[in-house]
Amino acid sequence: MQNNPHHASLETSRQGLVPVQPDAAATGQALVVSHRRKVSLVVPIFNEGDGIELLFKTLCPIFDQVPDLDFEVICVDDGSTDDTLTKLIACTTIDSRFKVVELSRNFGKESALTAGIDEATGDALIPIDADLQDPPELIPVMIKAWQDGAEVVLARRANRSSDPFLKRQTAKFFYRFHNQFSSIQIPRNVGDFRLMDRVVVDALKQLPEHHRFMKGLFAWVGFKTVTIDYVRQVRARGGTKFSGWKLWNFALEGFTSFSTVPLKFWSYVGVFGAVSTFVYAVVIVARTLISGVDVPGYASLLVAILFFGSLQLISVGVLGEYIGRIYTETKNRPVYLIRKRY
Ligand code: UDP
Ligand code: MG
Repeated sequence: MQNNPHHASLETSRQGLVPVQPDAAATGQALVVSHRRKVSLVVPIFNEGDGIELLFKTLCPIFDQVPDLDFEVICVDDGSTDDTLTKLIACTTIDSRFKVVELSRNFGKESALTAGIDEATGDALIPIDADLQDPPELIPVMIKAWQDGAEVVLARRANRSSDPFLKRQTAKFFYRFHNQFSSIQIPRNVGDFRLMDRVVVDALKQLPEHHRFMKGLFAWVGFKTVTIDYVRQVRARGGTKFSGWKLWNFALEGFTSFSTVPLKFWSYVGVFGAVSTFVYAVVIVARTLISGVDVPGYASLLVAILFFGSLQLISVGVLGEYIGRIYTETKNRPVYLIRKRY
């Protein structure tokens, strides 16, 4: 790890973390600090027209609470079909801290987030949902933890009672299942809402995959992490963009991105099946030798054929899930396309 390029960039950024000496400013000496540190908020937005104004009005006072830092808000319009873009552009004219990246179509939240992360220039980056379910009041607290030395500040949903029962249960099952069988551990009940130092963001940008399951990638890069608890809010405006089917595919995506256990599983099933079949064959032969041929055994034959036939179909399906992903990955298409920046 010593010769790792990440390591070098870590050192440079750490130097950036050295706090400004207050007494230099107090004594009025010519030591001018040219570099005010900046925090970038990245907001993936898809059809949130009703909520943009509220988002804008909520964020601005939060920025005023941290006067020693600059802010920028990278709003990524993920191919919205309502008046989201018009409203976002209006925000950029009122407040130059707001920037808009318009994608050429709807690429999905993970890709929109990737676009925003690539565009952001801040010393720290916070992905946040546009629906205010991630409370912006937490931002100053996260910044405090970052200034105290954390490279990643996780915001954990201590209470998810605003989410429907089924979503809570399936999420719980997903985290448990994923962490059991994956090489990396995704912290439970932590969404994309978090603060990342520039060094973490740069590490993240080095990960080349096109299937971007951000929660997994965030966890994969590691770094010094602290966790803050918060209560998940209800959506400010509009409805969720994630249906049950979309969530299922999202979970599948996450799981297959970080685990090959489903591929290996079938080898063990195969070995178990082969051993049992062998034992059964020995029993049949012995029985035939001892007591002669009895009933033809049509039923047991059919059961065996159907059972192993369906096992084979399932295992081929699992292979398909992975091969499909390898296929799209090898095509090397960009994760998103930008139509225009405002
Ligand atoms: N989002 C997006 N592209 C999509 C779907 C959603 O950029 O294709 C954004 C959405 O506008 C919101 C965030 O992702 O800012 C989270 O979406 P949502 O609130 O619907 O998810 P939930 O909180 O229900 O999991
Ligand atoms: Mg939401």
